[in-house]
Amino acid sequence: MTSQRARNRLVEQLRRMGIETEAVLEVIRTTPRHLFVDEALASRAYENTALPIGFGQTISQPYIVAAMTAALYTTGPLERVLEVGAGCGYQSAVLAQLAKRVFSIERIEALANKLRQRLMDLRISNVRVRHGDGYQGWPAHAPFDAILVAAAPVSVPPALLEQLAVGGRLIIPVGRAGHQQMCLYTRSEDGIEETVLERVSFVPLLEGLGQ
Ligand code: SAH
Repeated sequence: MTSQRARNRLVEQLRRMGIETEAVLEVIRTTPRHLFVDEALASRAYENTALPIGFGQTISQPYIVAAMTAALYTTGPLERVLEVGAGCGYQSAVLAQLAKRVFSIERIEALANKLRQRLMDLRISNVRVRHGDGYQGWPAHAPFDAILVAAAPVSVPPALLEQLAVGGRLIIPVGRAGHQQMCLYTRSEDGIEETVLERVSFVPLLEGLGQ
């Protein structure tokens, strides 16, 4: 079930669920999600579900990865992307294939280390991984033309809006457990526009460092 057939089936399912961006679907088709989860779960890697990755965290559902990526990838390849909550690194690997440079932050050190190794094994070299608190963004590399947050704060961290380039987009789940909504923020010369998208369920974005 880690076969190309299983991956094709997943892509067809995402298409039926409304994902239309071909470049994103192609990256999902070619990225080995089974290498980002424990061996015991590898046979379920191409099901459209979230799976545990240890430390109480989960690898996001493929539909969510595809939908968030497609919301950012609207005008072709991205330049600089900030990812907050990199977890096992699957989303980082997807973004790496659609952007020139990706800056990924993970607050749990063991996950950050594992993900660095995994990306190296896959020969993905345009992702910088940092063990840190993504609530503050990564000012040294700002501004970003896209920011993707994979854990939900109660309200949008101001630092992330500040680090968005003009024309840039931030996709982020916002709200308390059970009441979260995916939100898209677009920065223009005139200010920031908010679009509220679908209801979602993410682990919380925690402030400060993990172990
Ligand atoms: N896209 C990831 C999702 C992992 S779950 C994947 O598919 O594997 C969300 C991740 O956000 C967790 O690993 C959690 O440790 C991390 N996280 C939570 N709060 C954070 C913060 N303030 N800064 C950085 N990472 C954070």
